[in-house]
Amino acid sequence: MNLSNERKLQFTAIILAAFALIAAVAITLAIQPQETYAHEKALAFQSVEQIRYAKKTVWLLKTADQAADKTIQVKKSRKLQITGVSKNGWSQVTHQGKLYYVETRHLSKDNGYLVVIDAGHQKKGNSKTEPIGPGAKQKKAKVASGATGNHTRIPEYKLTLKMAKKLEKELKARGYQVKMVRTKHNVNMSNSQRAELANHAGADVFIRIHANSSASSSVSGALTISPTKNNKYCKKIYKKCNSLSKCVLAEFCKATGAKNRGVMYTDTMSGINWSKVPVTIMEMGFLSNKKEDKKMNKSAAYQKRMTKGMANGIDKYLKRD
Ligand SMILES: [Zn+2]
Repeated sequence: MNLSNERKLQFTAIILAAFALIAAVAITLAIQPQETYAHEKALAFQSVEQIRYAKKTVWLLKTADQAADKTIQVKKSRKLQITGVSKNGWSQVTHQGKLYYVETRHLSKDNGYLVVIDAGHQKKGNSKTEPIGPGAKQKKAKVASGATGNHTRIPEYKLTLKMAKKLEKELKARGYQVKMVRTKHNVNMSNSQRAELANHAGADVFIRIHANSSASSSVSGALTISPTKNNKYCKKIYKKCNSLSKCVLAEFCKATGAKNRGVMYTDTMSGINWSKVPVTIMEMGFLSNKKEDKKMNKSAAYQKRMTKGMANGIDKYLKRD
């Protein structure tokens, strides 16, 4: 090997070493920020156990980055299991055992819907009258006294409040905001006042809980009440009331096994006619029927099924199921 060859070799070695160094630096620079980022991200998520609801339709992302790959689409008001939050505005979602990310600003502690629950009747009926709807000439008692269990002797107003409270609890657990028309028996609230309360609250759903009664003790089953297509007092809400009444009745009967008596259409209910928000009356069963009276008033298991049924119906109507 002559000198010139040796020099060439040395030169090549230096060039190669220089390239290797540049490559090493480049790789280090390329990897470093990502590693630091992943490290920071792992540190930044504080582990939590939260239930949150989507404020709007959102995508669950692969990483906590607005540009990250979209994975699963979550519809408005759907429930999400949050297992981590970061100070820089991200939430970690655990879904079917996998981790996803969504911006915390798209989440809410409640599902965005308000339900007003009216426990039908009150301790003492009020036979003074009020117009059956805005501008109506026809008048009806402000609030009827209600039925009584033919076997249990329990008055309807007690059953309706018991069920209203159970439904309130169930709906709150599903992320709903709930407003109760009454929480005690000794009140004096007319049917129109109850509707006005739901109107002022801006209810997404106004559910009025009742139990039925018939001259014949053999009659049984559940029904819901909706205004007719031609109702002149609350024309604007007819379609929604119809849908709500159908959803609640179907889910109630599915959950309880009660006979489905269908939606009853009438324009004689003051509490419906005065409503400006979607409303239904749930007639859970017949207090004049011994079996249903006993089940509704005495069976905690049946009360649970009635509660779930009504809540499922509301979920279905709001397309949350
Ligand atoms: Zn009633």
